[in-house]
Formats: sequence, C-alpha cells, structure tokens
Amino acid sequence: MKKILIVMLLTSISLVAKVNVVTTYAYLGEIVKEVGGSHVKVNVLANPKFDPHFIVPKPSLITKLRKAELLVLNGGQLEIGWLPPLLRGAQNRAINVGSKGFVDVSGVIHMIDKPTNVSRSGGDVHPDGNPHFALDPHNMIPIAKLITKKLVMLDSANQTAYEKNLQSFITKWSSFLDQYDAKMATCKDTKVVQYHELFNYFLKRYEFTLVGNIEPLPGISPSSKDALKTINLMKDNNVKIILQDVYHEKKTAQFIADETGAKVQLIPHDVGSVEDTDTLEHFYNIIEERLCR
Ligand SMILES: [Zn+2]
Repeated sequence: MKKILIVMLLTSISLVAKVNVVTTYAYLGEIVKEVGGSHVKVNVLANPKFDPHFIVPKPSLITKLRKAELLVLNGGQLEIGWLPPLLRGAQNRAINVGSKGFVDVSGVIHMIDKPTNVSRSGGDVHPDGNPHFALDPHNMIPIAKLITKKLVMLDSANQTAYEKNLQSFITKWSSFLDQYDAKMATCKDTKVVQYHELFNYFLKRYEFTLVGNIEPLPGISPSSKDALKTINLMKDNNVKIILQDVYHEKKTAQFIADETGAKVQLIPHDVGSVEDTDTLEHFYNIIEERLCR
C-alpha cells in the first residue's frame, strides 16, 4: 500500500514537468516512452490498424498537435499524404518543420529502394525510397539515440535521466536483437510474395527472397490480370507464403493462395496493428512467429 502511495505521489509530481510529445506512428511512441520514461507524455496520431499512408485527418489529431512540444515523425514521405494539413490546422510554431521541436527519424536511416526514375507516373508513392523501415528491428537503436538527443535539447534538466534510459534501452534491445537474429537466421532464403512493398526492410535484413508484390506498382490496386501473373510467378518459384498487411483488401491474396496452395500470413506494419503487438518486442515476435515457424 505504502509503495502504491509513493508511486502515485511521484507520478503526480512528475506530471508537472512532462514534455508533451506527439508521434505519427505507434512504434515511435514506444521508443519515446523507452527513452523519455516518466518525463514525457506521449500521444500517437495514426491508428495502427489503418493505412499508414492515408490517416483520416480528424480534429482530435489537430488538438494533439496544438499542445505538442515535440513532434516525432517517420519521414521518407510516409506522412506526406496526411500530416501537412494537420500541421497547418494546428498552427503550432514549436513543432513546425525545421524547428527545435521537430524530428524526422528517417534522417538516421539508410533508406532502400530509391527509384531510379523520378517520374511519379508509375503510381510510385515513395519517391525518396521505401519509408517502411520500422519493419527492421535494427533501426530502433539509431532512432532511440536521435530522440534522446532531441529530448535533451528540449528538457536539459533531465539529461541524465534520458541518457540513462537510452543506455538501458540499448542494453535491452541489443540482447533482444541477438536472440531475434538467431531465430530468424533459421528462415533465411524463404521465398515470399507481399501485397505492398511494406516488408522490404525485414525481408532484406533476414535474407528472405522476395519473389514479387501483389500490387503491380506501389499504391496501385492489382487487376485480375496482375493476380494471374502473381499466381504464375509463385508456381514457377514454388512460393508458399504471402505477406498480407492489415489494411489492404484481402480477397486477392486469398484467391492467389487458393490457386497456389500458399498460406496468407497477416503481418503487422506497426505496434498494435494486430492483436498481441502492444510493445516493440511483441510486434517483432509476432512477425517471427508468422514467418518463421
Ligand atoms: Zn508504402
């Protein structure tokens, strides 16, 4: 009882000085919680069950942005379709592009799949390269370091706490990665097909063979002709797994699976996209369970 009271008392004291952080996606919120600990209050904008490229701009999201002292975004143009109007609506100078309270984590990531042809006529929604780098668990540490740097800049009084939290996170995450990489190594060279170019970072990291995408081009829905192409491709290459995300239509993948005898695996793209992915560890563990067992 005493312990609970002390915890409650400490919580109420720290409430006073919390840095108000808004992140675009849930995985970023998890990293902020890790390094910010009791010194931050975190709000996430995107519901992880929906398409990360097109978040519905609700007034409640503008309210969150209006109060924010730090905005952490994925970048790589993943938010280009929905965040700019929200920022205009919020009119919060503290978090505008280039200000002290703005951080784009793609700056510390080596982006893959940069299109050689800059024309967007092909329906390419990712001209800067593939922004779905959250799928590689190795990217969490550089992002955590960057966020820590920003928190220290904004709230130098708690520098020691932030740096200590970062060290604990690095220790914990490094040991998680050691175990995770060892498990995933057993699935190297597995052939897969995915719906959107959503899982490329994961597939590259763990040396899966991506045989094709159900979408003919990023952001373009597959026709029945495209589906038949994928079926033939999968038969020719003996592909037995289709990676389906939570937000695209699921009929095409199921049709292709029925025709090829492959299995459709629903893979989360963010923390909270599917059940039992409420933390970073659980998020990656579910992916391992569904692709490597
Ligand atoms: Zn995308």
